Amino acid sequence: NPDRDGFVTVDACIMDENANIGSVAFLERIKHPISVARKVMEKTPHVMLVGIGAQQFAVAQGFPLEPQKLSVEAQKSYDNWLIKSEYKPVINIENSKNQTAFAPNKLENGNWNHDTIGMVAMDANGNLSGSCTTSGMGFKMRGRLGDSPIIGAGLYVDNEIGAATATGQGEDVIRICGAHLVVELMRQGLSPENACKKAVERIIKIKGAAAKDIQVGFIAINKQGEYGGYCIQKGFDFAVCYADDKNFMVPGKYII
Ligand code: ASP
Repeated sequence: NPDRDGFVTVDACIMDENANIGSVAFLERIKHPISVARKVMEKTPHVMLVGIGAQQFAVAQGFPLEPQKLSVEAQKSYDNWLIKSEYKPVINIENSKNQTAFAPNKLENGNWNHDTIGMVAMDANGNLSGSCTTSGMGFKMRGRLGDSPIIGAGLYVDNEIGAATATGQGEDVIRICGAHLVVELMRQGLSPENACKKAVERIIKIKGAAAKDIQVGFIAINKQGEYGGYCIQKGFDFAVCYADDKNFMVPGKYII
């Protein structure tokens, strides 16, 4: 989905087992921001590039500049939104009626609303890494950044302990340094699921009654290869993929 001025801006970050990090934010007209984040990590002395500078870097690295035009689906979604132009954060509460494994989600109002891909991974040597990529909250203010490009908020990896990533209302993930918090809770001995749950509970405690209007979900994996997830509201499922092609969806546990 575009921002409220009709522009798609994308954010992403990546972190590997050696604590190498790369991030791009407020990037326009580049299709795969996570690949640009990886180039920031591998090819620059920096960890984060934003806006036009990130775009210039992407083009210099050989990424094609996509047309400004919205896709047919995104244009439909934007036209729908323009009818009311209501500036209210649109959250990722899934409509499980329309949900199929690995497919994006359509809301009851016809809008597509699942864009963030957060991944945490363990390789054949037991090393952990992760990535998080998004076009952000639908119809956000121009220039708004969420948690997804921010190391420690949308993603964190500590190869001795575990890795975590987030989706949902980025403002509230940033507020608690979400992914970093989940990893630190695992360091204290919590399972991935319980660490995600504690982080979600912290957001609910801060938000009080307003928590019912937002969605935040975390997934995590620890050094033993155990995984888990938790979210505020129902409907946030996550996918587990093994090297031998054993892939399945896990229904997200939730609090409200
Ligand atoms: N976390 C993303 C953001 O706030 C949005 C999402 O996960 O849907 O930009």
